[in-house]
Amino acid sequence: MATIEHIKFSMRHRKVIKYLFYNGATTLRDLSYLLEITYPTTSKLIEELQQEEFVQIHSESRSSGGRRAAQYQLNSDAGYIMCVDAGRLNTKLAIMNLNREIISRRHFRSRVFNHDDGFLQLVIDNVEDMKTEIGIPEHKYLGMGVGIPGFVNTDLGKSYSFLNYYDKPIREVLEEAFGLPVVISNDVNLMAHAEHHFGSAKDHRDALIINLGWGIGLGLVLNNSVYMGADGFAGEFGHIQVKHDGDHCHCGKYGCLETVASGEAIAKEAIRRLEAGEQSLLNSEYGDDRKQITARKIVRAAQRGDEFSINLLHESGEAIGKTLAMVLQILNPKIIILGGKHSQSGKFLTNSIKQSLLRHTNPMIGSDIIIQNSILGEESNFLGAAGLVVEKIICSNVSNKSFVLNSSTRT
Ligand SMILES: [Zn+2]
Repeated sequence: MATIEHIKFSMRHRKVIKYLFYNGATTLRDLSYLLEITYPTTSKLIEELQQEEFVQIHSESRSSGGRRAAQYQLNSDAGYIMCVDAGRLNTKLAIMNLNREIISRRHFRSRVFNHDDGFLQLVIDNVEDMKTEIGIPEHKYLGMGVGIPGFVNTDLGKSYSFLNYYDKPIREVLEEAFGLPVVISNDVNLMAHAEHHFGSAKDHRDALIINLGWGIGLGLVLNNSVYMGADGFAGEFGHIQVKHDGDHCHCGKYGCLETVASGEAIAKEAIRRLEAGEQSLLNSEYGDDRKQITARKIVRAAQRGDEFSINLLHESGEAIGKTLAMVLQILNPKIIILGGKHSQSGKFLTNSIKQSLLRHTNPMIGSDIIIQNSILGEESNFLGAAGLVVEKIICSNVSNKSFVLNSSTRT
């Protein structure tokens, strides 16, 4: 079987691959209609992709006319994508096939935040272990998609906030390490990409995706595409100042939303209040060992009725909602999707965000807004990473330079 780098795929072939990656099994008629390619040409494209074993028949189904209409999908074994979700405390890895099935996954403790350059070796070791376990031939790996928190410029392949301690752009470092084309992006932009194609934002032209985790991020889907901004830095929502005399933030400023409402901030505030003598179930549970207190433990205490913890989550939701209201006033999205670890914190946080949002927006903008938790959960960054590899590497209309270079060195 030929691999994608050895085939002269035209832009139309790539258009079909991209469509099938995002939408799964489709009939020829639908492909022709949706991609605005004539039926005979679509049929020829599919036949050629079948010959190269990139596409296969999925199943046969009855068309409305009563004739059997075959559905086509990508061949699961045609190629594999490596996905890296680099977190400040925990990094997750996955290997995915072209039908978006995760074949292998792993995670390891990481210290991306602390400029620990052991990060790369950990990624290499874990990816190599995964590859050995699943035994897929080397030439079937098509590319790697990497999500990184903070400021990331996808076009330049550079990360500015984290993983910027190598002498060259992190994309180049990873490409050399793995011998594969790599695409990097801000982690919340990956989440937005996934929500836009596979999640609840799929049917909405304008959506906001909030990542509630260790920090707080915002992804923007505007006019049916993920908006990254001029340099890829759009959506630095967590670093809007909300408190003049607030705590120092890791970004260098004071009083950012993240210092008030993120998972880390909630835990810090809980410890501060307990040390000042406030009462909570957390006191009896952790006593003087307050460093053990995390946002997750605060959520659990809130679920057991601990008023101290409920208040902390409420205050966090209030701050997030109030800041989000400003974004709503400017962009007028139709849906807000809450993702990330803390979006699963239950109603205490999400209800407070909703109430605060409604209170601080104009009713014309806020009253009909749909707010819901992500249906993709923790898979979203992997899906976004794979989507970006498909778009920027496999189906790019400018033949990806690094891809060509890499393929010529891997014969
Ligand atoms: Zn900040």
